[in-house]
Amino acid sequence: MPDSIFTKIIARQIPAKVAYEDDDYIAINDINPQAPVHVLVIPKKVIPTLNDLTDADRELVGGMFTVARNLMKQLGHRDYRTVFNCGEQAGQSVFHIHLHVLAGRAFDWPPG
Ligand code: AMP
Repeated sequence: MPDSIFTKIIARQIPAKVAYEDDDYIAINDINPQAPVHVLVIPKKVIPTLNDLTDADRELVGGMFTVARNLMKQLGHRDYRTVFNCGEQAGQSVFHIHLHVLAGRAFDWPPG
C-alpha cells in the first residue's frame, strides 16, 4: 500500500496544524472541518483500516481515546463526537486509521 497523506504528515513531508504529538500518535486539525473543532487522532503505526487491527493493537487504539479526551479537556469540551470510518462505503478516504474528534456544535443521530 502506498504512503497515505497521514504518513507524509507524520514525516513532515507535507504541512499540517499539529494539535498534539508523542512517540505513538499525532493529532492534527482536519483540513475540511465538519465542526468548530475537528481533530484527527492518528497512530504513527500504519494500519490501513480497523479490519487490519490485531490483538497487539489494543493498547494503541485505546490510547487514541485518551489522546482525544486530553485534547477535548484542554479545549474545554466535555461533549464531543468520536468517529472511525472503516471502508469506502462508510466514508473512509484515507487508509491509515484515524479517530475523528468533533466538538463545538450539536450532532444529529443517526449520522447519515
Ligand atoms: P476519512 O474520510 O474518515 O478517511 O477521513 C479523512 C479525513 O482526513 C477527512 O476528514 C479529510 O478532510 C482529512 N484530510 C485529508 N487530507 C488532509 C490534510 N492534508 N490535512 C488534514 N486533514 C486532512
